[in-house]
Amino acid sequence: MLRAGPSQEEIRRHNLGTLLRHVHLGGPTSRAELTSRMGLNRSTIMALTADLTAAGLVREELPKETGRAGRPSLVVRPESSRVYVLAFDVGVDRLVAARVGLGGVILDRRWAVRPRGAFDLNESVATLAGFARQMHRKTRADTVCVGAAAAFCGAVRKTDGLVRFSPNLEMEDGPFGEELSKRLAMGLPVTVGNDANLGALAEHTRGTGTGCRDLVYLHGDVGIGGGIVVNGQLLGGAAGYGGEVGHMVVNPGGRPCGCGSHGCLEAEVGERALLEHAGSSGIQRLAAGRGRDGIHAVVEAADRGDIIAQDALHRVGDWLGIGVANLVNVFNPEVVIFGGTLREIYLGSAAQVRSRLNLATHPALRETLRLRTSELGDDATLVGAAELAFTKVLADPLEVLARMSV
Ligand SMILES: [Zn+2]
Repeated sequence: MLRAGPSQEEIRRHNLGTLLRHVHLGGPTSRAELTSRMGLNRSTIMALTADLTAAGLVREELPKETGRAGRPSLVVRPESSRVYVLAFDVGVDRLVAARVGLGGVILDRRWAVRPRGAFDLNESVATLAGFARQMHRKTRADTVCVGAAAAFCGAVRKTDGLVRFSPNLEMEDGPFGEELSKRLAMGLPVTVGNDANLGALAEHTRGTGTGCRDLVYLHGDVGIGGGIVVNGQLLGGAAGYGGEVGHMVVNPGGRPCGCGSHGCLEAEVGERALLEHAGSSGIQRLAAGRGRDGIHAVVEAADRGDIIAQDALHRVGDWLGIGVANLVNVFNPEVVIFGGTLREIYLGSAAQVRSRLNLATHPALRETLRLRTSELGDDATLVGAAELAFTKVLADPLEVLARMSV
């Protein structure tokens, strides 16, 4: 029997999602522009826009002065205040919750300092759910939450979001998403992804890597995480643990790593390595702070001309350059983006990174390569979690909205 093609209704649903995705990622877009980008006729675009407007997902308005004669094409913009998602970010030092509107607008956020050491699942989930309730109470009555997702600094199983292992949080097999969903009690599953993977997704859709189909994102927290986008798709691997570039060995027999190996990129470039290089050379004052403050202190001292701080940055820059060279040789990216604390570390050691890259890669691989810092900064992982939470509503806007509004 011949399989029937998609029905009119299925095509309409698909087109509604595509149109919403265009304005969600691209911002206000004229009807004329949507017509040409989606390859549909004007009356179809008008009908789709009318449906999305009636659902409160977009609104139409006259564009600002175009300077052109004739009737201007109406501009379609995402309705960011009515429909939102909850985005969470679990890092080594902090817990963040945010309410993010259509169009990627961060409408509200709460955060707490997390003490280092073992992750307390119950307490962390209670804190994040409390933040979500506080933010929801401040919304208007007709506001709808259409999804929830979290970025977690650990390896996350693709099938069910279980956090399999997180050396820096001393955690194994934690059902974080399931517990947070229960505690939220909003009837919403919480999708979980690796933080650096979601950072890569955010940079690819909204940041430095917008428009690039092949990119590598490196995220510095206490450890180093990574996310790799190949031909427009995030590389997940068989079970979702792909892109763990922090545990790529760059120095066999080097510094011990939390994962049990030696000389991983994370062990040689992470916070501990930088602070120990700066501290063991006799400038304990630089290592007094930890986390972002500690790294910032070293980078600032190096900027002021402190030779020991400069040397510490150069040493980690050498290993970072070797790691980047390996990634460039394997993936031939258009851009390598340094995010989180690696932004500062890269800026303080760019010459070492470049020099290692030049030694270890063929010029052909560098012809189109750019090295950049993250535009989204510390928000990259949170923005990536929000994009993950928007997935369903962008696939079938009216169906999801109808289900959530009941
Ligand atoms: Zn390791």
